[in-house]
Amino acid sequence: MIGCFAGFVIDADKLLLMGSSLSFAVITLLILKKFRLSTKFKLGLIYGHLIFLFFPFAVLTTDVACNAACMPCANNLGNLAAIALPSTLLFSTLAGFFVIPGFYMLFSRKAQIENVHVINFIRRHSAKMKMNMPKIYIIDNVNPVAFSFRSFKSMVFLSAGLMDILNKKELESVLLHELGHIMRTASVLKMSVSLLRFFSPLSLLARFHHDSGEEEMYADRFAARLQKTGRYLKSAKRKIDRFDSYSS
Ligand SMILES: [Zn+2]
Repeated sequence: MIGCFAGFVIDADKLLLMGSSLSFAVITLLILKKFRLSTKFKLGLIYGHLIFLFFPFAVLTTDVACNAACMPCANNLGNLAAIALPSTLLFSTLAGFFVIPGFYMLFSRKAQIENVHVINFIRRHSAKMKMNMPKIYIIDNVNPVAFSFRSFKSMVFLSAGLMDILNKKELESVLLHELGHIMRTASVLKMSVSLLRFFSPLSLLARFHHDSGEEEMYADRFAARLQKTGRYLKSAKRKIDRFDSYSS
């Protein structure tokens, strides 16, 4: 019975696999820090970083487990990788829920909002919907953008440029639209409808007016219902479109 444990070795192949995975983890981190990238791309990189970071540990623990159980996967690199990959994806996804919103905050210039009207508006509506009040941040960006993260802690990001061009009612419509996303995800996560959605880091992110589809329609309807009109949302989108067409 002592035979299998004696077989546990860190050989050159394993070291190479773990070493290169960790180097990729460092590279993704450097790219994140160094370049100006779209929010979507950043999320992909963070997720990649987590995968490369977890993979060596998954290989190592799988190897130890295979040895302990005297299974043929012990010291078989191909087998180890195949077993380690699913658990790596699972761990990365779970970690992503915690890490991704915080990570994004680390790499963007932002400040918590001080606009009393916005804070009160969000507080009032979150209370009405019986949800935790999301944190609202202003990011230092002249482009009119808004997006939110919906994980265990929800956050809404508004750009300084967006605050500049929208009037009070339009800004409220954007805020309600984002609250709609947050509400929706809470229920989607509860049901966890599809595995693909669960594993995608992008499912944490909602961007105002740049994504389309059923989710956006839901958030739009949500905002229009609470505002009792869709016209402010429409004029907010028009203004953003106009800005985009000037700047591109
Ligand atoms: Zn949206």
